[in-house]
This record gives sequence, structure tokens and C-alpha cells, in this order.
Amino acid sequence: MNKVILILSDALRYDAAVAGMGYLGHLVEARLASLYKVIGELPSMSRPMYETIHTSLPVFEHGVVSSIVVRRSTKPNVFESAVRGGKTTAAAAYYWFSELYNRAPYNHIDDREVDDDSLLIQHGRFYFKDEYPDVELFATAGMLVRKFSPDYLLLHPMGMDYTGETYGADSSEYRNQAIRQDMWLATLIQEWMQLGYNILVTGDHGINADKLHGGTTPDVREVPLFLIRPGFPGQGNTGEVLSMLQIAPTICRLLDVPIPGTKKAIPII
Ligand SMILES: [Zn+2]
Repeated sequence: MNKVILILSDALRYDAAVAGMGYLGHLVEARLASLYKVIGELPSMSRPMYETIHTSLPVFEHGVVSSIVVRRSTKPNVFESAVRGGKTTAAAAYYWFSELYNRAPYNHIDDREVDDDSLLIQHGRFYFKDEYPDVELFATAGMLVRKFSPDYLLLHPMGMDYTGETYGADSSEYRNQAIRQDMWLATLIQEWMQLGYNILVTGDHGINADKLHGGTTPDVREVPLFLIRPGFPGQGNTGEVLSMLQIAPTICRLLDVPIPGTKKAIPII
């Protein structure tokens, strides 16, 4: 089935995911999922990586060079490819996604909840506080799937980033948030697998012990990619290292829509 859910956990480090996410680890062990390490693009900042993940373009090409660049995407992207291909799109995500693919600047009343087929994110639920609880957002994503059966759903929780920037990556709060996200996601992922969704779980960047990201070191660059494909066996822990530029082509291949980007990074399936 050509349906995809991307769980983009903000600031989810590779090591924190592997150590803390026991349900996803179980799917890897049971060979129902494949685990890869992704080397993030630079700078390891949020809004530039949101655009890179959805366009397969490095920052100097898409121009969202910093998180303070507030404008819509000007490049072919996953949401655009999906809508042009007649697919239904949805997101439960931070408001910067509304600004990149729907409208900029974000209006916290008009843009918080949208159901509009003329938009690139047709069914959007956009929060604007970094401390918005992940578990509330996960319930919203569950609702979007049950109510609209989107072909492409972006689920983008901020809890890892918020705890990492508040307490640092070397803290029980940050590490335990990975355990909590995994616990809350387990029942949803189980339901979505049974519905036939392809599911990707990754991060936009990591975070360091100094409570920030943006630099070039492995702690802020290395994120996981768990890939679940119902009906296909997983490969377990592949030990493979991927480029972040491969995520958009992989999503589009799974959706069976044209791949955005000018350099055409290689899909992993
Ligand atoms: Zn981020």
C-alpha cells in the first residue's frame, strides 16, 4: 500500500533512540523494521533540516539557511509531489511546517487547525509552544489517521528538543523522553502497521550536553532511521549509514509519486 507516516522526532539522537526506544528496538530484533544511522545535513538546525528532509536538497540550494528564515518553501517538496499526485496530506506538527508548506507567517488562530484541499498540508494541526506535550500530539495524529486516512502524514513531536534544550542531552529528562515517546507511539504504530502504513521514524538533528544543536559534531548530526514496511520483512539493524538527502526520495518512492530535488539522491527502497 502506498501510504506513509513520517515520525520526525525533533532532536532525537541516534544513541538516545537506540538506547531508549524499546518497542522500536523490538521491531528491529523481530525483523519487522530496519534500522539505519542517518548523518544529518548542516547546519544542524530545525527549520533548515525540515526543508532538507522534505526536498532532498542541501541548505545552500533550498535557501532556508537558518531557523529565522520565515517563508514558504520555494522548491519541489514531498507535500507538493503528494498533492499533485492526487494524494491526501496531513500533519500534526510544529507551526514552522505550516509556514514552510501552507502559509507564512503563521497565525496562531487561523492556521492552528486547517482542513483545506487547496493547501499542501491539507489536514494540518499545528502547535506553537515548544513544550506542547508529545502525548497530546500523538493523540491528534491518531485522530488524523482515523478520520482522514491520509496518504502522507507527518507527525512531529518537540519533546526531545524541549527536554534537550532545557536539561542537556546528558540528562535523565532527555533520555527518558525517548522511552516515553516510544511507549506512547507503540500502540499507534501497531494500529498503523495493521492499516498498511509504511512508517519512518527519524530526527532532524541531535543535541549536545550544552543544551544546543547547530554545529557539526556527531552528537548533533547522527539521527536514527527506523523503517517499517508492512508486508515486507525488515532487515534488523543494518549497520548502514545514510544521507539525510535520501529520506524525501524514499518517502516519494513509497507514495509512488515523483521524487523532488535536483540531484536525485537514492531512495533506500
Ligand atoms: Zn529541530
